[in-house]
Amino acid sequence: MVRTNQSNEALTKDEKYIWHSMKPYNPDATMVVTKAEGVWVTDNEGNKYLDAMSGLWCVNVGYGRTELAKAAYEQLNELAYFPLTQSHLPAIKLGEKLNEMLGDEYVIFFSNSGSEANETAFKIVRQYHQQKGDSHRNKFISRYRGYHGNTMGALAATGQAERKYKYEPLATGFIHVTPPDLYRSVDRLDCAPSELESVREIDRVMTWELSDTIAGVIMEPIITGGGVLMPPDGYLSAVKEVCKKHGALLIVDEVICGFGRTGEAFGFMNYGVKPDIITMAKGITSGYLPLSATAVRKEIYDAFKGSEQYDYLRHVNTFGGNPAACALALKNLEIMENENLFERSKQLGEILKNDLMNHLQNHPYVGDVRGKGLLIGIELVDNKETKEPIDVSVVNQVIASCKQKGVIIGKNGATVAGYNNVLTLAPPLCIEEEELTILIQTLIEALNEVKAQ
Ligand code: PMP
Repeated sequence: MVRTNQSNEALTKDEKYIWHSMKPYNPDATMVVTKAEGVWVTDNEGNKYLDAMSGLWCVNVGYGRTELAKAAYEQLNELAYFPLTQSHLPAIKLGEKLNEMLGDEYVIFFSNSGSEANETAFKIVRQYHQQKGDSHRNKFISRYRGYHGNTMGALAATGQAERKYKYEPLATGFIHVTPPDLYRSVDRLDCAPSELESVREIDRVMTWELSDTIAGVIMEPIITGGGVLMPPDGYLSAVKEVCKKHGALLIVDEVICGFGRTGEAFGFMNYGVKPDIITMAKGITSGYLPLSATAVRKEIYDAFKGSEQYDYLRHVNTFGGNPAACALALKNLEIMENENLFERSKQLGEILKNDLMNHLQNHPYVGDVRGKGLLIGIELVDNKETKEPIDVSVVNQVIASCKQKGVIIGKNGATVAGYNNVLTLAPPLCIEEEELTILIQTLIEALNEVKAQ
């Protein structure tokens, strides 16, 4: 790649000053992005890319929405900051709006990132049980392959050992179970949801661990970063029933699935469940400013209104619910509503999935195409019969080929046992049909090219 002076200088300084996340250092792969519009990002050499990953699964309304900048600017002029130990109008309005979207009574605790939203949920759940006199309930169950964040509790909940082992010991009290996965199923599907092996495992673990030591379960509606693993339709509501049976609370992590990614306002809405706690981030501001939220069912909140001095939630953060971030989030949700983006995600997601299936079902590397809304995973295998995962170097070649053709796609899964083999697509929900066609054609060409090599 020929670098201009400007891009050389930026990369030299980048190498000196910036510690990048999640990739071995490789200056040729580093892109210094300077502007973006719609689904397109432009680097400092003038190259344009269709960003089919919405940054890190978050730019739901697309880039360059000046209304969002304006909402934040106006709020910064009016009231730039005040902590939520007191209150301000943008937070109140956003709390009300989220309740309307959730369709039930939830009280909202604001933070800054998905990890923090999950940490907040864990603390609320543990204290809730204590308030009720159940002080032994402190264990959480989560699933292998699920990701819940980078902090010591959220990482403990994460079921991806390769991300964790260098940072042990993490928070204690997190137990992992097998996730459902319609492609490599542990589940027989010809039974009632309560009889699914992945549900029975949770029931069994809760019993063996002692029912009354279990505080809660955390799961995404669809495992996203772990490789877009689809559950059977009745799975989430069967898990909720198991939680009820053992007195545990259900936390649903909507950090990626929320705000239309799966074609509904929230991912759990695909599965007819009412979670006890819902955590959200990313799409709440479409990534324009940091903000996250932990939505807690009213009855749980009410248990914190005891008469003892320390019955309140002993948890605080400085920046959570920043007024400008809340004002921007409200405008972001308004755009989603006005442009019908959740429905659009559902419809375009079906088109994308069906087109990919039609074109790729005979491709020797493509084992499975799956997803809901504009959240799609394409699992690459070496052998379609044995489903042996393909080597990650092939997955990397496909991604590099797409990038070379001007399309950014993702790679997800689990490094353990070589399951780093799922190509992921999660474009902004405002993507146009012609742009979707570019994405599909580029991906097909890249897969064919890599096969031909
Ligand atoms: N939960 C899920 C499902 C996520 O995908 C992520 C981040 N990708 C997080 C939590 C953590 O969010 P953050 O990076 O904002 O801390």
